[in-house]
Amino acid sequence: MRTRHPICLVPVHWTQREVHAHSCSDGSHIHITYAEKRQLIAQGVVDYLVYPRVLRLTRVMPLRGLSAKTGEYLAMQLYDGAAWARTMLAHMLRSASG
Ligand SMILES: [Zn+2]
Repeated sequence: MRTRHPICLVPVHWTQREVHAHSCSDGSHIHITYAEKRQLIAQGVVDYLVYPRVLRLTRVMPLRGLSAKTGEYLAMQLYDGAAWARTMLAHMLRSASG
């Protein structure tokens, strides 16, 4: 089935083992679009865990206007799939591209 958000964005501590241990519907990670994937890679905050569909956050998110601590906290929220973190990520992507 096609989805609007075809790319998996998984926590930094995940390995390929965790990828196989979870499903996309269990809320263990979030999903992003191809456009978001390109932007995150350009910002250097993610790397490939399973090419080309599964991206993993790098430990520190060097995002403009965010301290490393905030970035780590955000990453932790992303791990939990928190809706506000997803919204904030979308906002940061807009800021970065604008
Ligand atoms: Zn997924």
